[in-house]
Amino acid sequence: MSDIEKLDTACIESQTRTVDWREEGWSGYDDAGRWEIVYPEREECGYAYDESLHGEATDEGDACTSCDGSGWMSADQAQESDPDWRAPMMNYAYPLDPNRAYDADDAEAVSGCLTIVRDVVEDRCYLALTGGGMDLSWEIARAHMDLGHLPPAWIRLPDMAGRGESDRDKELARAVVMSCETVADWAKGRADRARRVAGLGLSDER
Ligand SMILES: [Zn+2]
Repeated sequence: MSDIEKLDTACIESQTRTVDWREEGWSGYDDAGRWEIVYPEREECGYAYDESLHGEATDEGDACTSCDGSGWMSADQAQESDPDWRAPMMNYAYPLDPNRAYDADDAEAVSGCLTIVRDVVEDRCYLALTGGGMDLSWEIARAHMDLGHLPPAWIRLPDMAGRGESDRDKELARAVVMSCETVADWAKGRADRARRVAGLGLSDER
């Protein structure tokens, strides 16, 4: 997905929900949990590094022991190498489109530090972070775009070394601008309406 004109506005006014994952539970820990993780069918293998390769051992290094050599792990392999695979960590949930059912392909589309979770009670999906410790606003915006949505307008992109220079980052920033301008338009429309229904006069009067 690269054309931001194609992104929808389903999430631009969404408000972050605070969730204590341990308290409310997710089905990985507790069958009675309120939350379940939407798992992808496979995960890119992140375990090969300089001395080990995705594939058979060669003179240059040993074979990666985490994947089957393809550079991808099946869901079973991913869970085996990390019991908390795709589990939410930071206590925030970012609401996704309430009218859409997100599936394994959607889960595969979102990048590594975000995961899709479903509130079983509400039957609604959210994005959540699988890690933290730094401002991940760029990644949160990207994950929304990976799912076909404009980022929420509350996103405040941090000025970080190396970010905002690539074409991909510039496109992301343009999507954030589009979200903010759309919400501003909608807010102006609601203000105009309030003035009209109460007879408060023209939009530049107070
Ligand atoms: Zn591997």
